[in-house]
Amino acid sequence: MLEYPEVMTFAAQLQSTVIGKKVKRVLPPTKAHKFCWYNGEPADYDGIITGRRIVGAEGFGIFAELSFEDGYRLCVNDGVNMRLLPEEKLPRNYQLAVCLDDGEVLAFTVAMYGGIILHKGDYENEYYEKSRQGISPLGPEFARHFWKTMEESKPTLSAKAFLAAEQRFPGIGNGVLQDILFHAGIHPKKKLEEIKDEERAKLLECTVSTLREMTELGGRDTEKNLYGNPGGYKTKLSKNTWKAPCPVCGGPITKEAYMGGSVYYCPQCQPR
Ligand SMILES: [Zn+2]
Repeated sequence: MLEYPEVMTFAAQLQSTVIGKKVKRVLPPTKAHKFCWYNGEPADYDGIITGRRIVGAEGFGIFAELSFEDGYRLCVNDGVNMRLLPEEKLPRNYQLAVCLDDGEVLAFTVAMYGGIILHKGDYENEYYEKSRQGISPLGPEFARHFWKTMEESKPTLSAKAFLAAEQRFPGIGNGVLQDILFHAGIHPKKKLEEIKDEERAKLLECTVSTLREMTELGGRDTEKNLYGNPGGYKTKLSKNTWKAPCPVCGGPITKEAYMGGSVYYCPQCQPR
């Protein structure tokens, strides 16, 4: 799943590759995907954006979005993979393909679920709006937002729930969460009321520094970028690493199902 670092990486890679290019045609999905959403019929996208130039690309929360001439926008959410490749290398199956006038194609695929939404700045969706309005974790407003959100949160909320649930911090999900909590030395199930002031400050600091490092390195190594390559950030706690010893103390890592996803933690370095 795409989270903040991957969304920002997509945006940067799109900015340096497709801006200024014109859409040659849009190919509809090769087969229906039960959990892929569009705005209207994807077969109609071709008639709307063909001939239009790509004028912008941005990332926010869990969305990456391209903008076209005349105000059209194509956004994808965290469940959508995007690849830029030569047209002759287009995969056999995709949920949308945007062919460009230089012979390259942007191919969109969905594994579990995802939205590929063409709109005119009027997409009404709770996640989209929260992501749009979300405060960037790397921006100057984030610390204030973090403290305010913590103050407003129930004291019984766990660290994982606080950071990754209810879109309090769009773009922070069950992926980036693992290393943020590891760096902060906080157990995912530790309740806010059990987290002391200095640990809270550490949590803020590690949220920002971890996301900055992940973003600067082009996303996590568990996700693929626009060219199909894993990101340059080596995850410390993830599905890739959890069988290896803790990188700090050498002890075993615990994997547990918690709140709709696995959590990984070191019981030594992240005591309860
Ligand atoms: Zn450890």
